[in-house]
Amino acid sequence: MALEEIEEHSDGTYCVRRITGSSSTKPYRCPGCDQMIPMATPHLVAWLEHDVETRRHWHTPCWKSRSKRHQKIERTRNAPKY
Ligand SMILES: [Zn+2]
Repeated sequence: MALEEIEEHSDGTYCVRRITGSSSTKPYRCPGCDQMIPMATPHLVAWLEHDVETRRHWHTPCWKSRSKRHQKIERTRNAPKY
């Protein structure tokens, strides 16, 4: 099951897909730390919503720290109104 989430970052809106270890069949280089993500490691794939060319595989913690640096804004559809 592929679970995609939309995240808004200061540089654009990203689609984020979480990859489970079992569906990770080859190693990728993480742009966050420039290290390899070994096979069978749960990680995530993120790309700009309208530009698949920006698709990159990230270690989950690297993506999270990137989000912090860029002040991630969660898009919440069912936010309670006060
Ligand atoms: Zn990394």
